Amino acid sequence: MKIIAVGRNYADHAKELNNSVPDSPVIFLKPDTAVLKDNKPFYLPDFSEEIHHEIEIVIKISKEGKHISPKFALNYYEEIGLGIDFTARDIQQKHKEKGLPWELAKAFDHSAPISRFVKKSDFIDLYQIQFRLDINGKTKQAGNTKDMIFSFEQLIAFISQYITLKKGDLIFTGTPAGVGKVAIGDKLTGYLENEKLLDFEIK
Ligand code: ZN
Repeated sequence: MKIIAVGRNYADHAKELNNSVPDSPVIFLKPDTAVLKDNKPFYLPDFSEEIHHEIEIVIKISKEGKHISPKFALNYYEEIGLGIDFTARDIQQKHKEKGLPWELAKAFDHSAPISRFVKKSDFIDLYQIQFRLDINGKTKQAGNTKDMIFSFEQLIAFISQYITLKKGDLIFTGTPAGVGKVAIGDKLTGYLENEKLLDFEIK
């Protein structure tokens, strides 16, 4: 499986990092070794002084497809969950300044904690879903899928023009504003609507 992540899909987050709002999705990959499951703790790596949290809704691809049209994209995922796109912001900043790729800032081991997945049919409207990240009981990021620049279907259609999507692939669909640094001892809890799906510690 592979993880495809989308940068700058919420305008308020693009602005907080002084990035322009894109005309087409900004895409990057994380390898399968980035996955961290079952609310296991995340160990801060020693190569970065600034690991940022980015809470995101994750969609799980349910069947293989390429050149998927937006009209049929809804048929290519059945479940959604939450993930954290951990980002070494100090490394990313240096690489952005030099015009270098972001992999070292985004694709490192365990940089993609994911929750269990829930059926998309449990939601009345996929574009009215609230989600949030609390750290030590305080809300740090809160988003609503109505604010996405590119919808789940548009993302699936766009990505599958370039990259064949396979069953089990995950798409991280972008983070709302409020990203920030995590520290040892922080307790991260992620909610999809009011259901707590993520609950783990930084060590
Ligand atoms: Zn992200």
